[in-house]
Amino acid sequence: VALRDAGIRETGGQLFGEQLAPSHFVVNEVTVQARPGTPAHFDVDVAAAMRDAARYFDRTGHDYLRFNYLGEWHSHPRYQVLPSNKDMRTMLELVSDADFKGNFAILMIARRDVRSLRLAAWVYGRGGTVQPVALEVDE
Ligand SMILES: [Zn+2]
Repeated sequence: VALRDAGIRETGGQLFGEQLAPSHFVVNEVTVQARPGTPAHFDVDVAAAMRDAARYFDRTGHDYLRFNYLGEWHSHPRYQVLPSNKDMRTMLELVSDADFKGNFAILMIARRDVRSLRLAAWVYGRGGTVQPVALEVDE
């Protein structure tokens, strides 16, 4: 729904989810930032992101070991579902930030075509590692 509403502008938000096992997560909340991006890029509205995170933690009882922030997502309406150089830089900066509490963050990129929704995701580790994520999509 968010991708359709955003049209050709990039849209995005945050991913929150539950840890089922080491390296196995279910995304159970995808936020959509109210302020959209431009056709070529998307900037996170930090204040809105913090409000969304607080709401998610309230809803899940502040059980951070089980329910936590997983990462970011945005759409690439005009580009391939691959991180841009700027996306790479942004994510590596995020996970290396001294204030960042996790060990990793996921970046998911979405692109809606006429008939299909394409999704791809990568996990960025604190040490600067990048690995593709295997995604399973539930209808
Ligand atoms: Zn991007």
